[in-house]
Amino acid sequence: MRIVAIGLAHETNTFARTKTTLMDFVTYSGGDEQFPTDRLVEDYDGTDTILGGYLAGAAACGVTLDPVFHASAMSGGTVEQEAYETMKNLLLHRLEKALPCDGILLNLHGAMVSEEIEDVEGDLAAAVRMAAGSLPIIMTLDLHANITQAMAENTTAIIGYDTYPHCDSRERGIEAVELMVRALRGEVAPRMAYLQLPLLTLPPMQCTLRSPMTEIMSRLHDIEKDPKVLTMTLSGGFPFADIADAGMSVVAVTDGDAALAAKTARSFGEYVFSRRDDFEPVLTGTQQVIRYVREEAKGPVILADGSDNPGGGAPADGTVILEELIREDVSDTVIGVLCDPEAVEAAHRAGVGRMIAIRLGGKTDALHGRPLDVEAYVRLLSDGEFTYRGLMNHGVKGHFGRMAVLVAGGIEIVVAERRIQLLDREMLRCVGIEPALRKLIVVKSAVHFWADFMDIADRIFDADTPGIHRPDFSKYEYRKLRRPMYPLDRDVRGTFLTAAPGADHNSVIIT
Ligand SMILES: [Zn+2]
Repeated sequence: MRIVAIGLAHETNTFARTKTTLMDFVTYSGGDEQFPTDRLVEDYDGTDTILGGYLAGAAACGVTLDPVFHASAMSGGTVEQEAYETMKNLLLHRLEKALPCDGILLNLHGAMVSEEIEDVEGDLAAAVRMAAGSLPIIMTLDLHANITQAMAENTTAIIGYDTYPHCDSRERGIEAVELMVRALRGEVAPRMAYLQLPLLTLPPMQCTLRSPMTEIMSRLHDIEKDPKVLTMTLSGGFPFADIADAGMSVVAVTDGDAALAAKTARSFGEYVFSRRDDFEPVLTGTQQVIRYVREEAKGPVILADGSDNPGGGAPADGTVILEELIREDVSDTVIGVLCDPEAVEAAHRAGVGRMIAIRLGGKTDALHGRPLDVEAYVRLLSDGEFTYRGLMNHGVKGHFGRMAVLVAGGIEIVVAERRIQLLDREMLRCVGIEPALRKLIVVKSAVHFWADFMDIADRIFDADTPGIHRPDFSKYEYRKLRRPMYPLDRDVRGTFLTAAPGADHNSVIIT
């Protein structure tokens, strides 16, 4: 039995001022224009990633896994059309060469938007379906997928992450292979139902380590205990994509029972929707956090600058918190990781132990604070190489490009050449900082840092800062999003739960 795997992942923030280019995918995926496959197995085998899960699942089931395409880029602005077309053509070319096979695994993010296509994954799934004929196609997705009808219509089953921070990607990859193999052996017959909720939620409250998601996911796992239910997905959706299909959605896959799938998706969807008022985040001002650090904290306090989270497309060079920390002269504080290649270059040119006068941050746009003129001491320089050791991406090698630790007052400012979300303690240890020994750590991350920092945190605050990833709907103007949508519109009764006819390839679609 031979299963072909295809990967293309991007989370597109349509509010970003910059575009995502082909080079963003090339450099993020290994630095070769052809998106090589020869090192994929070596790089991902044993890692906590979807591809690591595919490989582990295939080995356990005794089937061959053939990864023929893999590309991803750091979350960012709308993907240039030409970049998407180039990757799609290469992907389809590789797929056609790999046929015939027994099944196809599609490892996508689920929230990619190109200049001309809002629903890139739907477009891709349709193209893969066209090439694959009636072969089973199982799609794995990030928890931030905005799942669309086209994605459901063109696949046999969809399996999304159950966790945010995303710590179950390997598990979901294994699950996808196992479901594929069971379906191919005729042991099960997947029937899928898909349901969009008129509900838009924000990253801090999509976190599955806090309420209401802890209860919601626990109910989802209870439903999965029914042997007739093969898999369930609740996708949190990515709210910073102004597209018709943004928002939460539910997928239920049952064994041979389309009606049960529809009923299960519907009743679970109703439950999630009944919790709609529990998704409102609480944001805390920097002054209040500083007061807490000085007067009450018993250990490291984490301040999540989610508004400037590069993992959701933000520039990671915002300066609003930094400016206040410098003004207040807060000690034993780390802020990271700022993406500022010019500052890194200046630090590396000056060398360790030197003072430099630099203009720091605020260079990408005017939405995340102004550039700061800072006199800083160069404490440490690094090549920015590290390995993820936390629960997320465990075992994956990360590359910040060159890094530097700059010190201004009592604040250590970690700067890097590349835009990467601070979510693993190794990202600070690789520049000589032990997070447990600091009083305040400001992370350019919305939620993922929870996985590796929550154990050392005295308290975690969501920052009240501006930006294109700010968890606050009053700051965004949606033009393409379908309406009504809670909480942008308060009255949304009767706008979902209408069953549509079943589609091809074993799917039942509800919109
Ligand atoms: Zn995600």
